[in-house]
Amino acid sequence: MRAIFLGTSGGIPTPRRSLPAVALMHEGEIMLFDCGEGAQTQFMRKGIGFGRLTKIFITHIHGDHLSGLMGLFMTLTMLEREAPLEVYGPPGLAEFFGSLERDIKLRARFPYSINVAAPGMVVRCDGFHVEAAPVNHSVPCLAFAVQESVRPGKFDLDRARELGVPEGPLFGSLQKGEIVTLPDGGTVSPSDVLGPPRKGRRVVYCTDTVYHPPIIPFCRDADLLIHESMFAEDMKDEARMRKHSTAAEAAGIARAAGVRRLALTHISARYLDTSDIQEQARAVFPETTVARDLMEIEIPYID
Ligand SMILES: [Zn+2]
Ligand SMILES: [Zn+2]
Repeated sequence: MRAIFLGTSGGIPTPRRSLPAVALMHEGEIMLFDCGEGAQTQFMRKGIGFGRLTKIFITHIHGDHLSGLMGLFMTLTMLEREAPLEVYGPPGLAEFFGSLERDIKLRARFPYSINVAAPGMVVRCDGFHVEAAPVNHSVPCLAFAVQESVRPGKFDLDRARELGVPEGPLFGSLQKGEIVTLPDGGTVSPSDVLGPPRKGRRVVYCTDTVYHPPIIPFCRDADLLIHESMFAEDMKDEARMRKHSTAAEAAGIARAAGVRRLALTHISARYLDTSDIQEQARAVFPETTVARDLMEIEIPYID
């Protein structure tokens, strides 16, 4: 699982930071979180094909988070995409697409669906699901979490050999949770060779929001929390007023939620140098990275 930051600015793009978009690569599938202007060219810069893009999640109806949808859809049509594409987001999203179809004559020639996302389960897939929770912004806004399903416990190779399981397909059957019959007629159960079930990885995408402690349980134990940090600490009042977070506030959420790693994004265009933001966040939560455009963060399993 890998997060690729396509755009890390908030509000206004800069030559170095494109508008919000994060691609999450998971077992051959790409999910896009927000689709700011320039998201499609960032895909190209990164050398990622659009073919594996299956789902787009839009946090809220603000231009910087969905201004890339029209261009992306036009490109996918020109590329003669045939695979379906699912878009999830707040209620206004259907009207937005309605306007594109009616007024701009968007004619996507691939099947796509607009799905209203609400707090709770958004979509359940094979091996993972995506859920949402409300945050506190100037318009209704959702944080999203990708949660992998529980994985089988660690396979104890030595124990399997001791029990006389021949190397080969029976190993796989045990890992899938099946009881196997050995060549001598004896049986071995998965619990004989598998450790306790292991939890799946969790990635939380949380932007835009003012400092919002009620989101802490939703972020709990995430392997990666991607949180907005529009401002540094000296602009705390501005952050409050405009319903955005500061670096230390984002780090406070990360610390309280006990996440493994924090990546800050949605950085105001006023910060050409983000060393203050990094320092202020790290003082609260050391495992903080200020995301840059095209940066990748690998999310490993921790057993
Ligand atoms: Zn924004
Ligand atoms: Zn916003």
